[in-house]
Amino acid sequence: SHQNLNLRTLEQSDKLKNVCYEIRGPVHEHAARMEAEGHRILKLNIGNPALFGFEAPDVIMRDMIHALPFSQGYSDSLGVLPARRAVVTRYELIDFPYFDVDDVLLGNGVSELITMTMQALLNDGDEVLIPSPDYPLWTAMTTLSGGTPVHYRCDEENDWNPNLEDIEAKITDRTKAIVVINPNNPTGAVYSREVLEGITDIARKHSLLILADEIYDKILYDDAVHTSIASLAPDMLVLTFNGLSKAYRVCGYRAGWVVITGPKEHATGFIEGLHTLASTRLCSNVPGQHAIQVALGGYQSIDALCAPGGRLHEQRTVTWDKLNEIPGVSCVKPMGALYAFPKLDPEMYEIHDDEKFVQDLLLQEKILVVQGSGFNLPDTAHFRIVTLPWAQDLTEAIDRIGNFLSSYRQ
Ligand code: PLP
Repeated sequence: SHQNLNLRTLEQSDKLKNVCYEIRGPVHEHAARMEAEGHRILKLNIGNPALFGFEAPDVIMRDMIHALPFSQGYSDSLGVLPARRAVVTRYELIDFPYFDVDDVLLGNGVSELITMTMQALLNDGDEVLIPSPDYPLWTAMTTLSGGTPVHYRCDEENDWNPNLEDIEAKITDRTKAIVVINPNNPTGAVYSREVLEGITDIARKHSLLILADEIYDKILYDDAVHTSIASLAPDMLVLTFNGLSKAYRVCGYRAGWVVITGPKEHATGFIEGLHTLASTRLCSNVPGQHAIQVALGGYQSIDALCAPGGRLHEQRTVTWDKLNEIPGVSCVKPMGALYAFPKLDPEMYEIHDDEKFVQDLLLQEKILVVQGSGFNLPDTAHFRIVTLPWAQDLTEAIDRIGNFLSSYRQ
């Protein structure tokens, strides 16, 4: 037997106690168990294009396969030069402050770069302004790094735009940075130049580092225009995060980058810290790095997918239309990214625990979504659905969600 009375009980570290990442939380695990039992679950919970028949551009795969023999060793900790050069060129083509290859750091997706940034930046008790709702990794990594996440409000009645007064009201002596997720996950909001200028004004006044998560900057619908916040603040330190996971549909390759723009002489210590962390993990996945140069050059197939008539555009529109047809459900039109974030009218649906709501939907309809509170939103009246399945599948799924909701009606 394995019984050994001397074995120590292992708890997770205290550091992890307050770290939440609900997108792959307990309900997700429950769904995995149901799948193992043979149920077919419609997974509307994770922005993974590969699950829904999206193929990566062929050239990316061919180029990566070609590079495999040259990818056996560790690379430079910052990343291979051709990829970092391609990142520089990508931003030279838009109105972006000057930076060079040494200001680019490649990572195993944006996720690793978020983790490294927070670890390099925060002392215990330092505060970071993070949107609510947010992509919850920002909050989780702030907490894990000893920092205090302070959530600023985004207003649903104002197309989920950040509330500038709320941002300003939450700044303290300990506030070190502000996170801006644009286009936004989970709301699909794309911020105007004016809103972004409002944020840069506040950041300038209080000397805040700007952390710009722009992983959806090429996934835009209708007349949405993306403005990189770094382009509005060449006089400030800005870290802009992006990668291949979404626009190039290769999230499994784990290829991301961060670029540092603005005056670096005030931040040499922090940047050195980032480089130290980069070297302790030696390098990011080298085959994934080699996919970056070919992805960023040439034909950008994402544009056609997002244009009217394109698959992502149609799916976004169907999702938004169908959700709004359900009594008591309202959804702000997503202008970018891969999600819709509907609201359930609390007068009509009494939901005290949105995790239970999502769990019930899973058990009854075998559809998996993520509860709004998983995005650090302080209410229980929202959920997030991904717009990646074919329009026909989304239509059926949302019909079933409508039926399910009718059993929740008060
Ligand atoms: N940031 C946002 C806003 C995201 O939605 C995601 C993934 O869903 C990530 C970062 C992480 O992406 P990556 O695959 O590059 O780690």
